[in-house]
Amino acid sequence: MADIWKPAMGINIKVLTPGLFLFQFYHKDDMNWMMNNGPWSFDNALLVTNIIPVGGDPMKVSLNIVEFWIQMYDLPSGYMSELVGKQLGNFFESFVSYDLSNNTSIWREYMRIRIMVDVCLPLKRKKKICKKNKSEFIVNCKYEKLGDFCFVCGLLTHTKHFCKKKIGGEVEGSGLEWGPWLRAPP
Ligand SMILES: [Zn+2]
Repeated sequence: MADIWKPAMGINIKVLTPGLFLFQFYHKDDMNWMMNNGPWSFDNALLVTNIIPVGGDPMKVSLNIVEFWIQMYDLPSGYMSELVGKQLGNFFESFVSYDLSNNTSIWREYMRIRIMVDVCLPLKRKKKICKKNKSEFIVNCKYEKLGDFCFVCGLLTHTKHFCKKKIGGEVEGSGLEWGPWLRAPP
C-alpha cells in the first residue's frame, strides 16, 4: 500500500491481527488524500479504512463504510443536477459529493457521484424513478474501482465461492442478480 499511496511524509504499517492493519501517516494531508481517493484494494481484496479517534482503540474502530464513485446511466435529459444526484446518492446509501467536472455539459452518458457504501449490505444496482406525469424510468448504476464481490448476494465481503447463501442452496436454479457488469469501465 505504501508503494501505491507514496505518502510524502512517510508511513508506518503494523499488522494487528490477520487481515487488520494499522497505518500510521506522519502528515494529515497524506492520510486525508488516502481517505478521499479510495476505494483501495490489495490482491483484488477491498481495503476498508477508518480513522482512529485520538485515544481510540484500533481493535474497536468500525470498519464497514467504503466510499465509491458511481456512474448513473439512463437518466433522461433534465435530470443531470446536483439535487437529483443527492437524492440518488442517498438512495444508493449515503451521498458524499457530486462530480461537477463530469456532470456539467449539455449531455453526458452518465452522472458521476460519490457515495458511502456499507459493506454489510448488498450493492444496489438500479433505481426506479417516477416522473411528475406518472411515467417511470430506471436508472442503472456502475461502480468505479470495484474489485471482487459476491455475484450471489451482492456483498463486498466475499466472492460467490465462499457465499453462505450459495452453500445453503438458496440460489439453486435461479440466475445471478449481480455480476461483473456492475463494474464501471476504466
Ligand atoms: Zn454472497
